[in-house]
Amino acid sequence: MNSSQMKKRIVYIHTNDTEVSIKTKNLLKVKLEKSGFTVADDFSDSAELAICVGGDGAFLGAVHKFGFPHVPFIGINTGHLGFFQEIHPEQLDEFIFNYKQNKYTLQPLSTVKACVVTESGETKEYRALNEVLIKSAQCRSIHLNISIGGSFIERFSGDGILVATSAGSTGYNYSLGGSIVDPRLKLLQVTPIAPMNTTAYRSFTSSILLPSDMEIGIIPEFVMQELCIAVDGIEYKYDDVKEINISLAGTAVNLLRFEGYDFWNKVKTKFL
Ligand code: NAP
Ligand code: MN
Repeated sequence: MNSSQMKKRIVYIHTNDTEVSIKTKNLLKVKLEKSGFTVADDFSDSAELAICVGGDGAFLGAVHKFGFPHVPFIGINTGHLGFFQEIHPEQLDEFIFNYKQNKYTLQPLSTVKACVVTESGETKEYRALNEVLIKSAQCRSIHLNISIGGSFIERFSGDGILVATSAGSTGYNYSLGGSIVDPRLKLLQVTPIAPMNTTAYRSFTSSILLPSDMEIGIIPEFVMQELCIAVDGIEYKYDDVKEINISLAGTAVNLLRFEGYDFWNKVKTKFL
């Protein structure tokens, strides 16, 4: 046996805790092992594939838990919407067959990073696949001074702002009236949440789109105001934010796509 024949093909299966997901995972494990794969008990970078059984929430959770790895993902949809998910639970044999034959492409999805600087000078960096959301932790409006590429653009007043990636454009961004963006476009979309537009306060009322190399700077007008920062729905609270800088991150999350995948067809079938 030569070394390539001996090389273990390790895959990892992540699942949410619904009954159907756990059943699907167990069945898939048996099928993969019969096909010569090793199903690891813990995720590591030595896996060639991370399989995620659940909905979009389970997939996003896995991406965060594994620290945005270079290992590609494939989703099996047992969830509600499953916009990221590629495979139905009835297609496990077909999936393994096509995967072994290398009949897939990789869809790279850009990610966004947010660097939070506090009054005391501490910094913390967050990553997101869908979006970074900044809003007041209370019910009152917030006021944010927003710059793009270092130039001051607007003093935003309202509930908050959301900065979405192209992949995240169909998530919360879409519910806020933002545009659906083809993930082949590398850009950031800044979408206002309930912007105030009166003689007292002036804010952009539509989304704005920025090229991939532009950084968005956000400085809260009142430092002591408690802010909620959410990355793909994971919340962090701060009461001492000096500034937040948001830009596209250098690396992508790669998703396996099989023959017949088409972004706009997916949009049509999931949304209309
Ligand atoms: P969740 O509250 O269960 O998610 C809300 C819905 O968004 C679910 O149906 C989820 O799909 C779907 N979704 C997630 N990412 C998507 C994407 N890129 N394109 C289209 N739909 C997407 O929370 P979750 O499942 O943990 O997901 C977190 C995401 O929810 C956040 O990143 C944010 O985009 C979204 N969200 C939306 C709203 C809103 O629309 N008002 C509010 C909060 C959060 P599944 O059913 O397959 O999980
Ligand atoms: Mn969900």
